[in-house]
Amino acid sequence: MLQCPREADVLDALASARWPDRVSTELSQHVASCAVCRDVVAVAAAMREDHDATWQEANVPSSGQMWWRAEMRARQEAIRDASRPVTIAQGVAALLALVFVVAAGWFAWPTLQGLFATPPPFLLPLAIGLLAALVVTPVALYFVLSD
Ligand SMILES: [Zn+2]
Repeated sequence: MLQCPREADVLDALASARWPDRVSTELSQHVASCAVCRDVVAVAAAMREDHDATWQEANVPSSGQMWWRAEMRARQEAIRDASRPVTIAQGVAALLALVFVVAAGWFAWPTLQGLFATPPPFLLPLAIGLLAALVVTPVALYFVLSD
């Protein structure tokens, strides 16, 4: 015989911590006479003791700590979700700016060639100013944005 109809009652008594003191005498007598229920009591009681010992030793963080961690995780996930479209938009904007610069250069090339062939007097200071702006702007942005 591998199963006993009273096995569920024995397991229930063990799970609710009524075994062995607060069960009916009829169930105690059955367990004493039934090999299957004796095995169930031996195995389930050992597992229950192990479970209780593990529960006592477990280092459960405080509820405030758990709440703080969950809040930080939710915040980081929200930031990640929100920044994904921004990253895509920045990539598209950079690509469009590059396309615009190339197209503007393509259409302005004949005019620029004419300017360089016979340079007007204001072109040299203008070119020096633009070059200085090209060099100074990234350095200034670096110092402003790097805290
Ligand atoms: Zn039994």
